[in-house]
Amino acid sequence: MPSPHAVAGMISRLNDPHYARWASQVRRTGGCRQPIHLRGRVDHIDQATGELIHRYSTRTEPGGVLRVPCKTRRASRCPACAETYRADTYQLIRAGLIGGKGVPETVTAHPCLFVTLTAPSFGSVHTRREKNGKVLPCHARRDAPTCPHGRVMSCTARHGSEETCLGEPLCPDCYDYAGSVLFNALSPELWRRFTLALRRRLARAAGLTQRELREQAVVSFAKVAEYQRRGVVHFHAVIRLDGPDGPTSPPPAWATADALADAVRHAASAVAVTAPAVTDEPARVLRWGAQLDVRSITMGGELTEQAVAAYIAKYATKAAECVGTLDRRINPLDDLAALPIREHARRLIAECFRLGVFAELADLRLPQWAHMLGFRGHFSTKSRRYSTTLGDIREERTEHMRTEAVSTGRLPLFEEDTVLVIAEWEYAGQGYSLGDALLAAALIGVPLADPGGQR
Ligand SMILES: [Zn+2]
Ligand SMILES: [Zn+2]
Ligand SMILES: [Zn+2]
Repeated sequence: MPSPHAVAGMISRLNDPHYARWASQVRRTGGCRQPIHLRGRVDHIDQATGELIHRYSTRTEPGGVLRVPCKTRRASRCPACAETYRADTYQLIRAGLIGGKGVPETVTAHPCLFVTLTAPSFGSVHTRREKNGKVLPCHARRDAPTCPHGRVMSCTARHGSEETCLGEPLCPDCYDYAGSVLFNALSPELWRRFTLALRRRLARAAGLTQRELREQAVVSFAKVAEYQRRGVVHFHAVIRLDGPDGPTSPPPAWATADALADAVRHAASAVAVTAPAVTDEPARVLRWGAQLDVRSITMGGELTEQAVAAYIAKYATKAAECVGTLDRRINPLDDLAALPIREHARRLIAECFRLGVFAELADLRLPQWAHMLGFRGHFSTKSRRYSTTLGDIREERTEHMRTEAVSTGRLPLFEEDTVLVIAEWEYAGQGYSLGDALLAAALIGVPLADPGGQR
C-alpha cells in the first residue's frame, strides 16, 4: 500500500503542466530505476559566423533537469541498465568471435579457446554435483574425520539447487577465510602473470624470442569474473591467437588451437603470487585451482560462439551480491552483525577488515573492498585488440538517438563539420521520489524497490 505522502506526490506530478514531458523523459530512460539528473545546456554554433543556431537547455525541462539512464552494470541496482550493459557486452564478445563491429569475419579461422580458471580450495563446502542427471551426495565419506572443532567432515545430503547452505563450509572454524579473501585480492595479479606466462610459453614452444613472437602473433582475450557461492572469484576468458596486427591478420602456421591450449595449461599451472606474512598469518603462495577448463570455440561445434558470448555477458552484470553480500561499500564502523547478509559472507567481510590493519597488506585495500569479499578487479576486461569497445557501442547508440531526435524535428539538421557543439552538464541528483516512482512503475514498469533512491 503506497504511503499518503507517495500518493500526494503522484497526484501533484500528474497535475504538473510539464507532466507529458516528464513522462516522455521517463520513457526514454528505458526503464532505469535510478536515473541520473543532469542540469545544463547544449549549444550548436555556426563555425563560420559564430552564430548560435540552436540551444537546448534543461531549464525548460520538468524540475529543470534531464533524466538519463544510470548505466550501471549491476542487475541488483538497475535491471534495465544492466540489461543494456549485458547486450552491449554480448555484441563485443561476439564480434571478437565471428567478426562485425570493425572486426573482419576471417577472425573465425583464428585459434580461439574458452578457458575457465578457478580458485583453489579453502576448505570443504556444501556442494551440489550431478552425474548423469542424478544429484550426488554432498560430501559422502565412510570414514570421515572429525575436525578439531568436533564436526564430522561429511555431508550425505543431496542438495537442491537453491539451498542456502550451498557454498558454506562444513566447518566455518576450519575454513581458511584469510586465504579466500587474499586470493580474491590477488587474483587480478595472478591473471596478469598468467597472460605473461602464456606469451612466454607460446614463444618458447615456437622457438621464438618474445620480440620475435610479437612480430608474428598477438594474444587477445576478453574475460569476466564470476563469484562462486563460496565467495571466491574465478575467471572465464576467451583467448584468441591473431597475426601481428591483431584480428585483421592471419596467425602464423605454428599458431594452432592445440599450441594455444598447451600454453594455457602450462601457464595456468606455472604462475603464483605470494601474500606476505603478517602477525598470526604465514606468507602464502596462491595459485589457480586444479580445475582448469580449456575448450575450443568452433563455429557450429559443441561450444558455439553464441553460447560463449551469452555466458560472458551474463556474468558481466552479476557481482558479489549474488553470493549473499552487499552491492555497496561497507563502512568499518558499521555493525557487521546487523547487516542483512549470509553468515559466510559476514565472516569473509570481517576477515577483510581484520587483515586490512596490517601494513604489509595495505596495498590490497581489503577494507574498501570488503563488500566484494576482497576482489577489487574489474569484472569484465579485454585486451586492446580483442574487438570493439563498450564505449564505441554506446557511441553508436547515442548517434542513433541523435539521428532520431533530428528526424523527429527536435534538433535542426546541419552539416557535421560546420557546426560546433558545446555541451555543459552538471550532476543534479539521482533516482525518483516516492510519488514519481509509483508513476514511473505505471508508465514503464520500473520496479518499486529502493524507493528512497532520490538523493
Ligand atoms: Zn539505470
Ligand atoms: Zn552438504
Ligand atoms: Zn573445524
